[in-house]
Amino acid sequence: MKVKIGNILEVSLVDVLFYPSFVVWFSYCNFRCPWCQNKELVFGNGYEIEIDEIIEKLKKNKDFIDFLHITGGEPTLQKNQLFKIFELSKEIGIKNSLNTNASNPKVIEELIRKELIDHIAIDFKAPLDKYEKVIGTKIDTKKIEKSLEICSNFKFLEIRTTFVPNFLDIKDLIEIVMYLKNKVKNFFYVIQQFNPSDTLINLNWKYVDINEIIEIAKIVKEKTKLEKIYVRTKANVKEI
Ligand code: SF4
Repeated sequence: MKVKIGNILEVSLVDVLFYPSFVVWFSYCNFRCPWCQNKELVFGNGYEIEIDEIIEKLKKNKDFIDFLHITGGEPTLQKNQLFKIFELSKEIGIKNSLNTNASNPKVIEELIRKELIDHIAIDFKAPLDKYEKVIGTKIDTKKIEKSLEICSNFKFLEIRTTFVPNFLDIKDLIEIVMYLKNKVKNFFYVIQQFNPSDTLINLNWKYVDINEIIEIAKIVKEKTKLEKIYVRTKANVKEI
């Protein structure tokens, strides 16, 4: 079976919190976040590759990683391929991780029910009333809420917000965390740095230095009383 992907990274130290992972970027996305830096993937560019070929690469890196991390794009849009790759990685003793925009709760529910998933990273983009503006398209936010509900008790759940200063401010981050605290039982919250580069649309993007994000994360932590917050850049993850 073939899957359309954008890239493979054999060892990443940042994509799964605390663990090294083998990362595959699936093509296609149903969101149009104006700040998206994977625009080729969003429109389905990339290349087709046999899943067996990815598994062979995974086997070669088995000693260096703990997780196969599938991201995108939005991986649930190639559902059959997603299930196949996760089944095969389980057969060789690798744990599975999914990064999703949470718009497809049925797929998430099925992955959990079939015990094919060990780590879920949900990109939670904005307070719900700002969601459509931040993702650049219409969405039934009930689906996002349903995904959170399904994952509420999941053993290893990461929820991430990319801090895009043109769209979000510190009040939004506080609102997001307070909402999540009410909705989800166990989760690690991560604020991701946005690096303006080649994005879906051209705007005068604001850039926030990592030290400033750390200060913002400290305030969010204090105001929300969340025990821990993590800050992720392209190269590092730091606990606040
Ligand atoms: S940032 Fe938005 S548009 Fe880009 S891949 Fe993620 S969900 Fe899709």
